[in-house]
Amino acid sequence: MNNDLFAKCVRFTTAREVMAAGFYPYFLRIESGQGPEVIIDGQKKIMACSNNYLGLADHPKVKEAAISAIKKYGTSNTGSRFLSGNNFLHENLEKKFARFVGKESALLFTTGHHSNLGAISALVAKGEVVITDKLDHASIIDGCRLSFGQMVRFRHNDMEDLERVLKMYRDEAKLIVVDGIFSMEGDIADLPGIVRLAKIYGARVMVDDAHSLGVLGANGRGTAEHFGLEAETDLIMVTASKSLASIGGFIAGREEVIHYIKHFARSLIFTASLPPASTAAIDAALDIIQNEPERRQKLWENTRKMKNGFQELGFDTGTSNTPIIPILVGEDMKAFQMWRMLFDLGVFVSPVVSPAVPEGKAIMRTSYMATHTDEHLEKILSAFAIAGRQLGIISGGTIQRPLTRQEKKRWRKLLGSQKVLLRKSKNWIKNLWLRFVK
Ligand code: PMP
Repeated sequence: MNNDLFAKCVRFTTAREVMAAGFYPYFLRIESGQGPEVIIDGQKKIMACSNNYLGLADHPKVKEAAISAIKKYGTSNTGSRFLSGNNFLHENLEKKFARFVGKESALLFTTGHHSNLGAISALVAKGEVVITDKLDHASIIDGCRLSFGQMVRFRHNDMEDLERVLKMYRDEAKLIVVDGIFSMEGDIADLPGIVRLAKIYGARVMVDDAHSLGVLGANGRGTAEHFGLEAETDLIMVTASKSLASIGGFIAGREEVIHYIKHFARSLIFTASLPPASTAAIDAALDIIQNEPERRQKLWENTRKMKNGFQELGFDTGTSNTPIIPILVGEDMKAFQMWRMLFDLGVFVSPVVSPAVPEGKAIMRTSYMATHTDEHLEKILSAFAIAGRQLGIISGGTIQRPLTRQEKKRWRKLLGSQKVLLRKSKNWIKNLWLRFVK
């Protein structure tokens, strides 16, 4: 009997085999900043899967704010906000963020993941219920798991199914938590439907605006602003790692509720606070979101161009109506093959396979930035057209070019002889998602 705890680690060789064969699309080592182009393995790739929606991660004012915060306050607060690491920069930023999203109060966590963990687990007590959309982000699910309440899920964006769940728990205290923009599908939560049902059944509503802040709403205030439901949305959660070009997370809402979360969220109390540089970067990014609305306009222009472009080529973009545009490729293995082809053609995207998406509905998750130029976007479409036709995902399309000899040779091998490795890779990834995500 092998009783060594590490034995399973030694046995785990799949990822290494997949890496050696050149199909490994994860943990890619980026050797540049997060712009519309990145350098990977010394080669330039067009970034088509970034969350840097407004392109602020390399904005001179954001960088300058971070640098000067380091110069003034150092690199770390070396403690949790609860004890010795609460900085005046945190509190100023909380006030500014609360004003921006139209709430009485806000609380700053060290990551978006921590915000969901802390807010949900603090609020939903024993005998209470947290109701989530089936496609909610993993951090929401983790928050539910840490709470002592009961977690119940409803079918994605299906208001009839939500009502069924609400009826079952009519007498319990309840929190509905949804993504504002769903991170894989790129569709928007039916907030009007959710708010209407929440009122009837007496539930509170929390929206995770990780992908919506800076993107949705006339002023970039997110999903609630987009639908004109700011007063009806009880809690707005946001991560600072996307449009806000930093790291960190907020939960905003009524003063007593935020005060309560502040004193019961273990992920706030038992972790070190956000460093000065990251805090100052968020502060500067919030100013830019308010002062440079043309960035949001450009993001939406790019989004429309790409959605039309993909549809004209014959790709299925699902229910997306935001800068996150998934491209349906079908079988999981096709997604890995497509990833490799696109990468060879100079485009960096992420394959998303089952069970993160239903079996047979693997996607390439693409997302767009205000700083993509027309030339970047044309190149992405052209690469998708070439790879899509090779893999039989599309048949036509206006962008045509013959394959080079090198591409033919490389891809023949890719499409033919690597099936075993691809299958292994699929199983490993399946396991990963099953254990940690859903
Ligand atoms: N919520 C959603 C919808 C997300 O997509 C993410 C991150 N991808 C998070 C929460 C967690 O945010 P962070 O990465 O800042 O921890």
